[in-house]
Amino acid sequence: MSGRIFNFSAGPATLPLSVLETIQAEMLDYKGQGMSLIEMSHRSKTFDALTVESEALVREICGFSEDFQTLFVQGGATGQFAAVPLNLSLEGKVGEYVNTGSWANKAFKEAKQLGYAAREVASSADTNHDHIPSGLKPGRDAAYFHVTSNNTIFGTQFQDFPETGDVPLVVDMSSDFYCKRIDPGQFGLIYAGAQKNAGPSGVTIVVIRKDLLERSPKSIPSIFNYKTFAEKNSLYNTPNTFGIYVVNLVMKWIRDQGGIDIVEKANRAKAKTLYDAIDGTGFYKAHAREDSRSLMNVTWRLPSEDLEKKFVSEALENDLSGLKGHRSVGGIRASIYNAMPAAGVEALVGFMREFERKNG
Ligand SMILES: *Cc1c(COP(=O)(O)O)cnc(C)c1O
Repeated sequence: MSGRIFNFSAGPATLPLSVLETIQAEMLDYKGQGMSLIEMSHRSKTFDALTVESEALVREICGFSEDFQTLFVQGGATGQFAAVPLNLSLEGKVGEYVNTGSWANKAFKEAKQLGYAAREVASSADTNHDHIPSGLKPGRDAAYFHVTSNNTIFGTQFQDFPETGDVPLVVDMSSDFYCKRIDPGQFGLIYAGAQKNAGPSGVTIVVIRKDLLERSPKSIPSIFNYKTFAEKNSLYNTPNTFGIYVVNLVMKWIRDQGGIDIVEKANRAKAKTLYDAIDGTGFYKAHAREDSRSLMNVTWRLPSEDLEKKFVSEALENDLSGLKGHRSVGGIRASIYNAMPAAGVEALVGFMREFERKNG
């Protein structure tokens, strides 16, 4: 594998090897154009075709109808923390947020900081975000209902999304977009920074139900205006051309192996292998409650911080990188995104057994 190791980083994260090879092969001469894609005008026919194809691929992979539009924007998921209230707020109504971790809380705080009415409707903070709160329901005065589908730092994930009726469900899917089949009809807006499970950093995928485009006020900055981007098919200004290109290749990689259901099956098998290895001993202890566990980011503790440090450094010597947990949970975090092969998880589990044998 040309010196490549298993990279469990939370993001930017591992990409499919075949995608990297395609990028390499097309780098100097993109499809006979005599130049690389990143040297090409975003107004060229070639790039325009790539954008159109990419929008269609998002629709195809997730099953979105013509009622939805895909946008490729910049500013990361953090940019969307601002874009959501800027575009979707309604006079006299309140943006509602579920606090399931650091990113969810940042989204909530950004809305408040911008002066919008925002309310935290539920929180898992008192158990250090080890679960997804249940019984979620929007209030009568909700402008939108915001959740973070996968909590990258804590390793929890919504297994089902709340029913929000007429209130648009807004979901930060930065770390689990394309990880499993979703019911497109449930959503008002989905956004995802690509660098976890969908591509490189610097491009953010937004999928919006078209009727919501009518909410965007003219007075907000154009760069955050969903309607402006929708009208220009994501080419209002120079987009991250390279980012869109890589996202396109990742989507084809999903499609060509049989689509989202195949990917989901592989993800469930990988996650089961790892959670079984954790649960099967008293040495490792999972952070997330069993009913809330993430398929993408698996978090666990060892008996002491010294052992955790040792685990991370010895893992690296075994070509298993990026396993240090986020400081707000501590311990270990293995990000097992779509592009992590089953062999990577098996290698990790083998290392865990050996580590426990020596240190348990
Ligand atoms: C990484 C992450 C973010 C922040 O993404 P940026 O692209 O760095 O702004 C937001 N939400 C979730 C769930 C994330 O995992």
